[in-house]
Order: sequence, then C-alpha cells, then structure tokens
Amino acid sequence: MEKKIWANSCDSHLMEPFELFRENLTPEQADRMPRAVRDEDGQFETIYVDGQEFRRKVPFAKRPMVDPQTGLGVVDRAPGQNDMRLRLKDLNQEGVWGELVYTSIGMWMHSMRDPLLMLAGCQVINDWAIEYQRFSPRYVCTAMIPTLSVETAVSEVERTADMGFKIAMLPTSPTVDGPNWHRDDWHPLWGMMAETGMHVGFHAGSDPHEADTFNGTYHGGPGGHLMNYYEASFHMQMAAAKLVASGVFDRHPTLKCVVSEGGATWVPFMADRLDEAYRQHVNQVWPKFKRLPSEYLFENVYASFQHDRSAPQALAAMGYQNVCWGSDYPHLEGTFGHTQKTLHELVADLTPAQRERITKGAFQELFPHVPPAPEDGTELPEDV
Ligand code: MN
Repeated sequence: MEKKIWANSCDSHLMEPFELFRENLTPEQADRMPRAVRDEDGQFETIYVDGQEFRRKVPFAKRPMVDPQTGLGVVDRAPGQNDMRLRLKDLNQEGVWGELVYTSIGMWMHSMRDPLLMLAGCQVINDWAIEYQRFSPRYVCTAMIPTLSVETAVSEVERTADMGFKIAMLPTSPTVDGPNWHRDDWHPLWGMMAETGMHVGFHAGSDPHEADTFNGTYHGGPGGHLMNYYEASFHMQMAAAKLVASGVFDRHPTLKCVVSEGGATWVPFMADRLDEAYRQHVNQVWPKFKRLPSEYLFENVYASFQHDRSAPQALAAMGYQNVCWGSDYPHLEGTFGHTQKTLHELVADLTPAQRERITKGAFQELFPHVPPAPEDGTELPEDV
C-alpha cells in the first residue's frame, strides 16, 4: 500500500437522531420536524416535513458491497456515524483529519413553512451539533439557519457565532418563492455573517421544496434521477452566482462561501461567463464592483468534490486555487471504505504543492483554528 494521504474534508455529515426533537420540543412541534420513513418493501421512503409529505425512491434498496463498474467499495454503515468518539476511529482509518460537518435529515428543514417553528428546530439541531465541535477540534460543524424570515436568520447567525460556530449552512434559495439571495432584503444577513466572521456553507440537496412540485417533478421520466442529481449542483452554482453578481463579496470582502458536493470546474467556467457579461454588457450591469466577478469567485468561493476526476484540474490547469476535497462521510455518495484509493488516484498527477492545497491547505485557510493534519504516511492510534 502506498503512503497514507491525510486530507481535510469540506463535506461531511452528522446523522441527527429524531429523538432530538422529541426530547427538546413539544410533541406537536416535534411531529412537524423532518423525518424519513421507509416503506415496508424498502423501495420508497416518505419524508415528512411540517405537514407535507415528500415521496422518493430509496437510492439503494439492496446495496452491493462493491460496485461492479468502478470497483469502489460501498459500505452499508460507517461504524462511527452516530458516535462522536467512534467517528474519530473511522476518520483515522480513512485518513481524514478535519471535517466540515453538515446535517443530514436537517437539510429538509429548509422545506418547513412556519418561520418560528423552523427557528425552534434549527436551534435544537445547533445545540446538539455544537457538542461534536466541543468534543474534538477536528469537527467544524455548520449552524443550521432558519431562512423563512430575515430576522430569524440574522438572530440565529448571531447566536451560533457566539456559541463557537464558524460557518452557517444556508439553503440554495432561502424560501420556495420569496426574495432570493441577491435581493437587498438579505443585506442584514450578510452584514451579520461578515461581522461575526461566519462563512457561508451551501450543500447539494438543500433546496427548499413544496410537496406538490417535488412529487410531480423529481425522479420522474427516463433519466429523471440523473437529471435531478445534476440539477442539485446547478442550484448551488446559482446561489454562489447570486452572491457574486449582487455584490455581496464586494461589500464584504472577508466573507467566504463553501460549495460542498458540487465539483469544482464550474467555478472557472462561471468566472468566464460573468466576466464577459460584466465587460461587454456594461450598460445593463448593476451594481458595479471594485474588481471583476471572477476575482470574487476565485477568492471568496471554495468548491468541494469527492470523486470528480476533473476537479483537480480546476486548480492545476485553470488557476482556481480554492479546490477542496470532501469525503461526504457517512453518506452513500462518499468515500468511506475507499478513501485512500480515491485520494491516491485524484492526486496522482499533481505537484506536491497542488496536492497539499486540495487535500489540506484550502480547508486550513477557511478554518485556521483546526490543528494541522498529520504528515502523509503517519498512522494514528485508533482512538485519537
Ligand atoms: Mn455531502
């Protein structure tokens, strides 16, 4: 076996137990919180959120242990996914050091419909998630932000920054049909994020939904699933574009945004599109910035990928330095069980400096409080 590569992950997840809501909210409130229930035959599941029911096909009804086409191992269950101490053992085995950790079922929180109930649910998750971060400096948890109103969003950013959170997870759109991220309504949110030093985290699949459109559109027709998976990354790209285009980074140059689980080559592509419009359509463009859109994209936006063969080339060939790897632990799309194989393949053609930037440096720049990862080749005891 080749030398162990240590990498920080810009895309990992907690698995929130549903009892959290039962223990911390009234029974009536808890019943309206997101939960997934699988059909008896295991083929479909229903996600219940605030009186709505979202139906979807389960990704793997019966999972093979090794994918016959890629040869990559798929593991039924990561032993440490529900335990903050055992989780470190999984990370040490895989060679993952620091982790940016999102929620799991909590991503359905964005489809809540009552602003104050959403605030209550986010606070329950945040009060629980911070315990992970306090347990180990390797865990960097995202704060869930209730975005059905500007006021609840701003107050929860302020509260969670005080608790020690370094990054707030925002959905790709704040609501199903309200003012989107580029609108002036959200100025107070960006101001509070910049003032408290909180980063923005966008994650695939965090779009707010309504049951009618979700059940009618998603996973329908030939190719439906592949198109939906692709579109999930597109929604994150648009969210980043809205921040750049509306001048959020121009007004708040220290604000940083991480786009997790969406590849990386879209950033240089988008930079070209936005710069061309900014230069060539000068009469139609407002607001105007101090710098080109590409400069904000390249400096304020970080993009995380797990398997994408093209992603390292965004750095090596296209000049975009904020490419970060992510394990997606413990989710199905992630690398648990084959992290070292994947990392070795991804970095094979890179220089040592490029390899360092993608596996460790970009994350370290975002979260300088996390102790540096071990040197490659180091083996740690299981329970560090
Ligand atoms: Mn993920």
